[in-house]
Order: sequence, then C-alpha cells, then structure tokens
Amino acid sequence: MLEILFLIGAVGAIGLRAQQRGTARTPFVAAALAGWGVLLLASVAGLGMVGLILRWLWIGGVYLYLIRFTHGGAKVEDRWQCPDCRLFNDAETLVCLCGYQHPGAPAEARSQSVRDT
Ligand SMILES: [Zn+2]
Repeated sequence: MLEILFLIGAVGAIGLRAQQRGTARTPFVAAALAGWGVLLLASVAGLGMVGLILRWLWIGGVYLYLIRFTHGGAKVEDRWQCPDCRLFNDAETLVCLCGYQHPGAPAEARSQSVRDT
C-alpha cells in the first residue's frame, strides 16, 4: 500500500525534525502515528476520502508544530554550516544531526538533546 510508504517517509521526516529542533523524537512520532491511526479507523468507519485528507492534515500539523512551537519557535539567524561535519542546516535547525548545537540555540534545546542521545 503506497500510503504506508508515504507515512514511513513522513514520520521519518518528523523524527528528523524533532532531532534538529533539539527535542525528544518519541512524543512527536507517537502523536503523528496515533492520530493517523485514529483517522484511518474513522475512514474505515465511514469518513472515506475526508478521513484520508484529515489524516494527512494531521501529519502536516505535527510537522508544522515542531517548526513553529518547539522551544517557542526559536530559530537561529540564518542557514548555517556545521563546523564539525560541514553539513548545511536551515535556520529552524538548532542541533545538527551530528550532535553539534548551534551557539544561538536556546539552552533547553541543548540540554534536551544531550539527554536524548
Ligand atoms: Zn554537524
């Protein structure tokens, strides 16, 4: 089923984003999957196409929430290159995937990611 592949990709992106935002991945991945599952059941129970749209809006909502509201929507000044691994990160990324924390990231993003890894 094609939708499952999209779901795996989308949930992977949410997990990655949570990591870049310096927050724990599990609650966001769990919320995305739980909401999707509930809306899938609602689709089967009669919502049909509306349920399909709603469950993808839910996934998109979780993703947008991560960018907009984690750590108060904190951003660093601009696109930046990690001094450790040379990876380019966007302004929404507070913690590079290699674990390097941008000096402009809020303190709670730093302590969180240290606990998470
Ligand atoms: Zn890096």
